[in-house]
Amino acid sequence: MRAPVLVPGRASSITFPFWAVLLKNAVFVITQVDDTALSSSHARVLFEGGEHVRHRFTARGFCRTVRWAPQLFRAPGRVNLIGEHTDYNDGFVMPAALEFEAQAAAAAREDRLIRIHSLNNGKSAEIDLSAETHTPRGDWTDYAFGVAVMTEAAGKPLKGADILVSSTVPVGSGLSSSAALEVVVGYALLSLSGHDVDTVELAKICQKAENDYVGMRCGIMDQFISCNGVHDHALMIDCRSLDRKPVPIDPKARIVVANSMVHHALADGEYNKRRQSCEEGVRLLKPALGDITALRDVSFDALEENRDFLPDLTYRRCRHIVTENERVLAAADVLERGDLEAFGQLMNASHASMRDDYEISCAEVDTLVATAQRQPGVFGARMTGGGFGGCVVSLVAADAVDGFIDAVRVAYREATGHTSDVFACAPQDGAGPLAG
Ligand code: ADP
Ligand code: MG
Repeated sequence: MRAPVLVPGRASSITFPFWAVLLKNAVFVITQVDDTALSSSHARVLFEGGEHVRHRFTARGFCRTVRWAPQLFRAPGRVNLIGEHTDYNDGFVMPAALEFEAQAAAAAREDRLIRIHSLNNGKSAEIDLSAETHTPRGDWTDYAFGVAVMTEAAGKPLKGADILVSSTVPVGSGLSSSAALEVVVGYALLSLSGHDVDTVELAKICQKAENDYVGMRCGIMDQFISCNGVHDHALMIDCRSLDRKPVPIDPKARIVVANSMVHHALADGEYNKRRQSCEEGVRLLKPALGDITALRDVSFDALEENRDFLPDLTYRRCRHIVTENERVLAAADVLERGDLEAFGQLMNASHASMRDDYEISCAEVDTLVATAQRQPGVFGARMTGGGFGGCVVSLVAADAVDGFIDAVRVAYREATGHTSDVFACAPQDGAGPLAG
């Protein structure tokens, strides 16, 4: 734990962003300013937010009376190097956890209320776990409360909690801010309630929350990598068995993410349509191929031999999944051998397949990918994430990264008018307590 440092700023101007500073640097300071008994009622006042808090506390009063003793947790966002939309087909993916992460300061309560405040949107909400039924609200709280509800449904009773969340994962950019939020909340709730955290089980609970409470039929990749990322490695995941294999990233290369800054609204509906096409493919191929339960079970040769059973659109959707699974397996192999050129070629092929067969790219992302692919020192580039906007991931020679970032930013702005955020990343460990 850090040594206590006096909190800067005047407490009379406390707003939640002020707490963001505390969250990163010195949450414990407040609890160590004096030693009177912890008062959860004062912590609760904080969660009511805004003016009320400001009026209630003077600088001194704040330090004397707020006795919130939170524990800190983190859960990263992710970038997927290769293997897009393969997770819900029981296939293979290869993401890495990012430095961008959701952090939570959380303390258990005596009752069964869960109160949450997000520093990102400035909103607070609560749920009573002892209520008989829980109805999703159709907003950001579903990600957090869905995890609480699904954790209890999985047989793990929870205590109430006050949770303050702050995330540096860009929202809606394909870097999985939603999984980071789910996982950090799940980790916090399990820990505060005295449960051991099994990170595979936590990933499953968070996926269930997003599937059944949020209503987004995502696969398990985002939650799994947020839970199980490995420092300096990509993680090859078999989404059927949930076996995982860390693959080191050669230090001669860096992962560079470029945000297209566009997000087309059709994404969620189209995502679910792609799932339906895959399910249809399995259903239509089953009579010919026998015992298949997912496109994971279909080889490229088997697909080609039986393509007449599929409408053209369904065939192309299936071809993306089948070839993408093969690319991920090949990518793990070549990355392990340090063959960065071969890995880059697989990334490029993956993008072409997403663009032409799965049709989940868009004009801006195609421009950004093409821009990245023609820069000196790049091994390969592709869209990453669910699609219809979001981010592009490139593998770039370490000594070419600075020039790459500048050139991509300038060329993309000239081509589209959008100013892309472009940054190099270093893979991180998965979720856990946040070291003080
Ligand atoms: P992605 O996961 O790619 O960032 P999603 O659409 O899956 O995009 O999830 C984004 C949604 O997750 C946001 O619209 C919001 O509802 C929720 N969310 C994520 N992080 C936070 C946060 N820190 N605070 C509040 N809501 C968040
Ligand atoms: Mg998401």
